[in-house]
Amino acid sequence: MAIDFSFPPELEEVRQRVRGFIDEVVRPAERELDESDRDALRSTIGGLRREAKRRGLWLPHMPEELGGMGLGHVAMAAVSAEAAKSRYGPFALNSQAPDEGNMHTLLHWANPDQRERYLVPLCQGRIRSCFAMTEPEVAGSDPTLIQTRAVPDGDDWVIDGHKWFISGARGARFAILIARTEDEPEIPQAGNSAFLIDLPAEGWEIVRDVETMSGSHNHCEIRISGLRVSGAQMLGGRGQGHLLGQARLGPARLAHCMRWIGQAETALNLMVERSTKRYAHGSLLSEKQGIQWMIADSSVELYQAKLMVLHAAYLIDQGADFRTEVSMTKHFVAGALNRIIDRAIQVHGALGYSTDTPLAKMAQQARWARFADGADEVHQWRIAERTLEAFKRDGDTKAATGRLPL
Ligand SMILES: Cc1cc2nc3c(=O)[nH]c(=O)nc-3n(C[C@H](O)[C@H](O)[C@H](O)COP(=O)(O)OP(=O)(O)OC[C@H]3O[C@@H](n4cnc5c(N)ncnc54)[C@H](O)[C@@H]3O)c2cc1C
Repeated sequence: MAIDFSFPPELEEVRQRVRGFIDEVVRPAERELDESDRDALRSTIGGLRREAKRRGLWLPHMPEELGGMGLGHVAMAAVSAEAAKSRYGPFALNSQAPDEGNMHTLLHWANPDQRERYLVPLCQGRIRSCFAMTEPEVAGSDPTLIQTRAVPDGDDWVIDGHKWFISGARGARFAILIARTEDEPEIPQAGNSAFLIDLPAEGWEIVRDVETMSGSHNHCEIRISGLRVSGAQMLGGRGQGHLLGQARLGPARLAHCMRWIGQAETALNLMVERSTKRYAHGSLLSEKQGIQWMIADSSVELYQAKLMVLHAAYLIDQGADFRTEVSMTKHFVAGALNRIIDRAIQVHGALGYSTDTPLAKMAQQARWARFADGADEVHQWRIAERTLEAFKRDGDTKAATGRLPL
C-alpha cells in the first residue's frame, strides 16, 4: 500500500520546532503587544524574526538558494497550521500574505534582473510588498472587468486607475500591479498585464487605509494617476496578467487554508476547554449533548479540512492540475473556519462575545475568508462546471471529486 499519512521524521521535527517557537516565543510576545502602537509592532516582529532565523525557521516556503528552508506545499501545510496558531507566527517566519504569494509569483515569473531587485530583498525580510488587483468600481471576482489602464508611451507605460483593499500597501517597497493593456484580446482573460511598481512613486497615492469590521489593517485604497514605468517593469508577458494572477492564487489560496486550520484548531481547543470548566443545570457543558454535537461537528470539519488541504498540496507538489481541488478546499475550509469559531463563541456565551478571549477578533477576521481570493459562489460555480464537464466526457463524475483512487 503506497498511502502513508505520516510525515517523514525530518518534517515532523520541523513541525515540532515551529510549535515550540510559537508557544515559547510568539504567543507570549503577542499577549504583551499593543497592536495600535505601530512602532512597538514593528520592533516586536523584528525581534521575532531574529529569533526565527536563529532557530533555523526562516522563510520555510522558498528554496535554499534564496535563504529559505525549501519546503514543498505538503510540508508547508504542517508548518503553516502551526505558525498560524498565533496571528504573528507567519510574520515571524516571513511567510505572511501577501508577501508569500508575491514571492511564489516572482520565483515563477521574474527575469534574472527582477529576481535580484525584488525577490532577493523580499526573501531577506528587508522589504515588504503588495499585490494590487481589486478595484472599487468593478467586481473583483471578474478580473476581465479591470479598468486600470496602462498605455504605451515610447519605451514606457503610463498607468491610470483606482485600486482598493490592497493589503500591506502602506510601507510596501513595491507592488505587483494588474492593469489592462490590450484593447481587443483574443480571449477576455488576455487583456491584463502585470507590472512591478517601485514605491513610493509619483502618481501612486494612498488615499486611505480602509476601515474594516475588524479595524484598520493596512488594506489601502490607491489612486493611480499618470504613473510612469519603463517597459522593463512588466512582469511576465503582455496579456499574461490573468494567467499570473491565477497561477499565484492557487497556492496562495491553499496557504490561507493552512493558516485557517491553525485558527480553527485554536477555536476548537478553546471551545473544548471552556466546556470542561463551565457548569450549568446540573452538569458541565461538556456533558450536554447539544454541546457535544457542536464539538463533534467541529472535529469532523477540521478533519475534512486537514485531509483536503494535504491532498490539494500534494497535487501542487506533484505538478498535477490542482484547480478543482484547491477550489473545493478553499470553499470548504473558509466555511468551516467561520462555523467553528462561531460555535466556540456560542459555548463561551458572553465571554466569547467579549474581547477577553481571542475569539471575537478571530470571528471578525475570518469573515472575509468566504468571499476574498474567490467568493464561495464563484468556487461553487467552477466546481459544478468541472463536475458537469467530467460527466459529459467520462459518463461519470469521478474525475471531479478529488481524483482519489476511490
Ligand atoms: C481582508 C482583505 C484583503 C484583501 N487583500 C487584497 C489584496 O491584497 N489585493 C487585491 O487586489 N485585493 C484584495 N482584496 C480584495 C478581494 O480579492 C476581493 O474582495 C475579492 O476578489 C472579491 O471582489 P469584490 O470584493 O469586488 O466582490 P464582488 O466581485 O463584487 O463579489 C461580491 C459577491 O458577489 C457574489 N458573486 C460574484 N460573482 C458571482 C458569480 N459568478 N456567481 C454568484 N455570485 C457571485 C459573491 O457572493 C461575492 O461575494 C482583499 C479583500 C479583503 C476583504
